[in-house]
Amino acid sequence: AGAIAFRDVHFAYDPARPILKGVSFEVPAGKTVAIVGPSGAGKSTLSRLLYRFYDVQQGSVTIDGQDVREVTQKSLRSAIGMVPQDTVLFNDTIGYNIRYGRPAATEEEVRAAADIAQISGFIDHLPGGFKAMVGERGLKLSGGEKQRVAIARTILKSPPILILDEATSALDTRTEQEIQTALDLVSKNRTTLVIAHRLSTVVGADEIIVLKDGLIAERGTHADLMRQT
Ligand code: ADP
Ligand code: ADP
Repeated sequence: AGAIAFRDVHFAYDPARPILKGVSFEVPAGKTVAIVGPSGAGKSTLSRLLYRFYDVQQGSVTIDGQDVREVTQKSLRSAIGMVPQDTVLFNDTIGYNIRYGRPAATEEEVRAAADIAQISGFIDHLPGGFKAMVGERGLKLSGGEKQRVAIARTILKSPPILILDEATSALDTRTEQEIQTALDLVSKNRTTLVIAHRLSTVVGADEIIVLKDGLIAERGTHADLMRQT
């Protein structure tokens, strides 16, 4: 479940400056499609249209054939999980941060998610970095550790659709590789839309879409795109 289709999608925040000028692609259920392109190309806008932060002005976005405009906000939110570029944590334990939005989750479920994301050693700690939290349980998490919290949250939520919005772009190369391995694990068997700024980070995607000037400039597997350039 969770097949996504963008069909002839047009969108502008400002009518005088179109951002998407007729973009069509599909993410088959369980597959991974990466969107790459220069900053400002409209990559994050695509994810906002899927999540219905904004509505398309022409064309359609569908999930399993149903227009997202006909899906309730509640079911959209439960169907889609998101790992952003920078995870902002609440000033409470890592366990609380993982559980956030899922009050019914048991301790065991939170711990299991933390284990898979390899952050379980921190579960009772406070994220630190907050003035009031210089106590003994407070610690300052690295960027990679914060992404592990976001990944644990997504594992707990277990949505059929996943958006990874430059989820490793704020990390150094070695941490990026570790987090990429964790992300590959969560995106397995989920319909995944990856937003990336470099081709080299999306080698494993089933399809890569290169967005330029509001249109798809190139598309194919990583091998296809490497052959062309
Ligand atoms: P990308 O993710 O490819 O960097 P975005 O989708 O974030 O690009 O943004 C595409 C363009 O739309 C950019 O020029 C950006 O400045 C503009 N933009 C993004 N969000 C808004 C907004 N809320 N209001 C007006 N313009 C926006
Ligand atoms: P929850 O189920 O707890 O709402 P989500 O994974 O749906 O968790 O979203 C986490 C946060 O990321 C929310 O605050 C949501 O508004 C934001 N978010 C989710 N999807 C997108 C998206 N496509 N673009 C921008 N922000 C998003």
